[in-house]
Amino acid sequence: MALTITDIQVRDIRFPTSDNLDGSDAMNPDPDYSCAYLTLLTDGNEVGHGLSFTLGRGTELIAVAVDSLRPLVVGKTLEEIISDMGGFWREITGDSQLRWLGPDKGVMHFAVGVIVNAVWDLWAKVAGKPLWRLLADMTPEETVKCIDFRYITDALTPQEALEILQQSWSTRGERVQQLQETGFPAYTTSAGWLGYSDEKLRRLCREGVQRGWSHFKIKVGRDIEDDMHRAKLIREEIGWDATIMMDANQVWEVEEAIENMTRLAEFKPWFIEEPTSPDDVLGHARIAKSLAPLGVGVATGEMCQNRIMFKQLLQAQAITVCQIDSTRVGGVNEILSIILMAKKFGVPVCPHAGGVGLCEYVQHLAMFDFVCVSGTTTGRLIEYVDHLHEHFEHPVVMREGCYMAPSAPGYSITMKPASLDEFEYPHGPVWKARAEKLDN
Ligand SMILES: [Mg+2]
Repeated sequence: MALTITDIQVRDIRFPTSDNLDGSDAMNPDPDYSCAYLTLLTDGNEVGHGLSFTLGRGTELIAVAVDSLRPLVVGKTLEEIISDMGGFWREITGDSQLRWLGPDKGVMHFAVGVIVNAVWDLWAKVAGKPLWRLLADMTPEETVKCIDFRYITDALTPQEALEILQQSWSTRGERVQQLQETGFPAYTTSAGWLGYSDEKLRRLCREGVQRGWSHFKIKVGRDIEDDMHRAKLIREEIGWDATIMMDANQVWEVEEAIENMTRLAEFKPWFIEEPTSPDDVLGHARIAKSLAPLGVGVATGEMCQNRIMFKQLLQAQAITVCQIDSTRVGGVNEILSIILMAKKFGVPVCPHAGGVGLCEYVQHLAMFDFVCVSGTTTGRLIEYVDHLHEHFEHPVVMREGCYMAPSAPGYSITMKPASLDEFEYPHGPVWKARAEKLDN
């Protein structure tokens, strides 16, 4: 029986994380981790969920943008959407009037991602499989059909994508088994936020080592002397066998990034993440070229707006690590194209996560990459941040520094009704109480 999408509901959910400086970095000193949370209602038993991660203010804009896409999804059946997933994506990004607001970027593209990911969640739930498994069970031809290759055929043709997927097709069963037994490796960012005291930083590093973490990311970029001090302190706690990564969250000029990282290279970071503007392809290329002799790589992607920007970063050899984000580009379909391009250019995918729901989401994409595309976990890690998982029906399961393969059907993004009610902005009890406190 056909399952029809009968309506959509969007809610503005915000967590007051800025109270504890959780998530603070050089560019974003006071984020309230938030999301526009979508429910795709249907005439059946299953509903689809999707969300777009934000930092608080502005979440209402994404909610409105999602609603503006309503006519492109309500009334459709799941069957008609999934029979031509690539066509659906082209349609939802190609509305002749809404496209003017992008194309494929900004608030509108966030909204596209919310809806597209909710459709995938619904599909996986109806199929009775976790999303990564739904993807892994597709034939190479079916996967390629989900992708809109518009504007990327100079880097990756449908035929090349097919060949990449066919290469690992026959051995994928082994990797599915490996994931189910040992999971996918992760690194932690929970220790390294800016604004934590030296004492807290040391304690979190020690706890991290005890918990089995071997890769630690720290935030840099507010003050180079302070960065040097904190990097030294972290090395003292974790030793030199563990790996450090650094993240500047876009605060530097290109020359400044090269200068500062030349100093910080002393602490042997694997890469510098977001050294400058996410749109500066040539700037990233120059930084990558300058830092390569020092053994420092360049990573970006969490604010990369679409597959076309990723294409250019790869073509220009501007990144040595590709950081896909599950809510920034237009959902699973577009991510598939980015993972395949990264494979073609020989750049490992290490997904961005944290925030709210990003870990829950992105584990599925990394697992698809491992099973169907890259075939390896070497040099590949998913970011992990230990915040806000308690609000999800099926939160990530970590064991010995690895994401364990999700088993519940869907895309792991369904939130608990009580959490939604409590943190809804501005009328949920948490926000109402704060508003009243401010009034008094
Ligand atoms: Mg980052």
